[in-house]
Amino acid sequence: MAKVKAPVEFRNVSKRYGAVTAVDDVSFRIPAGTLVTLLGPSGCGKTTTLRLIAGLEMASAGRIFIGDEDVTALSAAERDVSMVFQSYALFPHMSVLENVAYGPSVQGLKKADAEAMAAEKIRLVGLSGLEKRAPSELSGGQQQRVAVARALVLEPKVLLFDEPLSNLDAKLRRRVRDDIRQLQTDLALTVAYVTHDQEEALAVSDEIIVMSNAKIAQIGSPHALYEEPSNLFVADFIGDANIIDATLMACDGRLGTIQLGEMLLTLPHRGAQPGTIKIAARPDALTLSKDGEGLPGTVTKSSYLGKVREYTVKTALGDLFITAPGRSDAFPPQSHVVVRFTNSGIVVLPH
Ligand code: ATP
Repeated sequence: MAKVKAPVEFRNVSKRYGAVTAVDDVSFRIPAGTLVTLLGPSGCGKTTTLRLIAGLEMASAGRIFIGDEDVTALSAAERDVSMVFQSYALFPHMSVLENVAYGPSVQGLKKADAEAMAAEKIRLVGLSGLEKRAPSELSGGQQQRVAVARALVLEPKVLLFDEPLSNLDAKLRRRVRDDIRQLQTDLALTVAYVTHDQEEALAVSDEIIVMSNAKIAQIGSPHALYEEPSNLFVADFIGDANIIDATLMACDGRLGTIQLGEMLLTLPHRGAQPGTIKIAARPDALTLSKDGEGLPGTVTKSSYLGKVREYTVKTALGDLFITAPGRSDAFPPQSHVVVRFTNSGIVVLPH
């Protein structure tokens, strides 16, 4: 691709609709050539954030930069950004080639040049040979690729995806998300990607911006968000977590002594103050055995899902959700068990 890709930066951006604040004092940076996902539950402000990058919404406060340019006051047409919509928004009466060539044509390029540019992008997304088909003659995954080719054709500085997989069935979703990630890394595109699906976000992103109630809850790599959530919202939203009340007894350097029922654990205190705290324990960080040291409990639910077994175990610390490898010995409901806390997958929540 000819153009240099640009970073995107939000500096204290807010968007208000009357009394509703959809985006509240948000700052972040999407480095050039990376894919950053906006992730969060319905209504948290992620689509509005994407539309603010596109210029489809104008900021009520703050500044937005694409590369070195302050684009806050620029219209969508002036921003050099393309968006792939959830609905694909293909023109049904035009062929694949005409759909992709549409953008350059309206910009005034000669038909032959526009079609040559379109053919190149159709090849990039792996649809060569289907140029003459109508969108209705394509599968959902192929229509999605046409939408990507159409967004790429003008070689934008930034490419935006709004829930691009939501119209696809579960199997296809994984393939298409891998295709999008491959294309993004091959072409070193700067991409902002909106989804409410945490697994999809973990799979495709360099970094994830988790949003909650119009604000940023945490920004980090998929690994950092999963292993070191900085608050209860992120621990609960990214993957499964047991949130358990505990007491931070004392701190020594970066470690803290934590009392959990009758047990004592040593974990990084992550800036938490001595007193009542919450810890997050991933379901696979807790192990079950018949006897020995640990937290006694009773299995109340036991399911076999092939790859894993899932248990709910009633303990003095509350009900715990625990997973074990599918090929491990089963503990049927009513089994008396002992829960052990392993050394990883358990963190203090500082907030
Ligand atoms: P979803 O996943 O459901 O699309 P979202 O995280 O993308 O949700 P937004 O669409 O950004 O959320 O909306 C954030 C908030 O702003 C919501 O409370 C929404 O109702 C409100 N909002 C969005 N657009 C408008 C608008 N044009 N007028 C008034 N309120 C709006």
